[in-house]
Amino acid sequence: MHHLCAELYPICRSITGDGVRQTLEILRRKLPIEVHEVPSGTRAFDWTVPPEWNIRDAYVLDRDGRRAIDFRRSNLHVVSYSVPVHERCAVEDLKAHLFSLPDRPTWIPYRTSYYERQWGFCLAHADLERLTDAEYDVVIDASLEPGSLTYGECVIPGSEDEAGEVLLSSHICHPSLANDNLSAMVLSAFIGAALRAVPLRYSYRFLFAPGTIGSIVWLARNEDRLGRIRHGLVLTGVGDQGPFTYKRSRRGDAEIDRVVAHVMRRCASDAKIVDFSPYGYDERQFCSPAFDLPVGRLGRTPHAEYPEYHTSADDLAFVSPEQLGDSLRVTLEVIATLEGNRRYVNTNPKCEPQLGRRGLYRAIGGNLDREAVEMGLLWVLNLSDGSHDLLAIAERSALPFAAIRSAADALIENALLVPVPES
Ligand code: ZN
Repeated sequence: MHHLCAELYPICRSITGDGVRQTLEILRRKLPIEVHEVPSGTRAFDWTVPPEWNIRDAYVLDRDGRRAIDFRRSNLHVVSYSVPVHERCAVEDLKAHLFSLPDRPTWIPYRTSYYERQWGFCLAHADLERLTDAEYDVVIDASLEPGSLTYGECVIPGSEDEAGEVLLSSHICHPSLANDNLSAMVLSAFIGAALRAVPLRYSYRFLFAPGTIGSIVWLARNEDRLGRIRHGLVLTGVGDQGPFTYKRSRRGDAEIDRVVAHVMRRCASDAKIVDFSPYGYDERQFCSPAFDLPVGRLGRTPHAEYPEYHTSADDLAFVSPEQLGDSLRVTLEVIATLEGNRRYVNTNPKCEPQLGRRGLYRAIGGNLDREAVEMGLLWVLNLSDGSHDLLAIAERSALPFAAIRSAADALIENALLVPVPES
């Protein structure tokens, strides 16, 4: 995962342009992502797809012809969506277009100007203080022209069409920033590759789209299919050293909210769970009132709560292979729990069935202890009245979900349990 982050890191991405296409092309080696192009000017609810932005080079030359600021050294140096420029500037006019972080003098900030025609450079404050010539030559060799917005989508079909879909979304619009958001697009690609190798009940829809405008465009183009989305996660910032943070869906009590809380209690007890707010990443769009999709957000330290956020310090050293791997493990555990969680009906609800006669106490092995197995059978039988799902039974019994799932499987095999049909 870290190698893939490193390969994607140098690419200059934005909300449109060749950097996004190149990124999807690389991710396609891991997952068969279908690439969609939506022309500039296309309306999507209250928004319009902007012109496409591409950049070849950008620099500020001092009087000796040296690059005082050089896009080739870091793509963060140019404000994303800067209009093309080719002019000589007095230093004080140039400084009106420069952004730095005086309290972090060696870090380059990350800035964008998507919807306002502007140009600018970002640089380390220490370098800004070295700009002492009277004039500089400024060049931004970029284009901002009709083109398209690019996003990627990959669907891994499940075995039960009526079960619906799980949406996993990550944004792909940031240039050389590792945690926000290379970590999440790489996690998503690895989850997809893992899911392709196992049988699934749900279908999984992976969305790789530029932040805000990308999810809005996707929602506008898929409005008639949104009813199929039963659960969803926005993945973001999953490689830093912080504990997990899960932000609940707008509904607050969706199945995905319950599943993530359960998995976190079991595998990441230092995780923080926070309520929905209409601010953050693309959960803002998925959870807008007309859609109110059951989509939460999973990440580690939330954006803007770590100083490296949106600066050159969010680099490849800021994300670790261990944290990326741990994020993959926990997300797959969430998916396994979603897959296994269903409602059932006890076919023998008048008193307990005779479990010993059916050999049920011995039917469940593995590394689950005998007591958990027996208790699991009794709890599943007692609460499977069609209204409790297995997760609710796991929580009420304080047994691990895996023990409850194994108990349910053994009862199904003995015709003591039947699933409630998916609605
Ligand atoms: Zn960001």
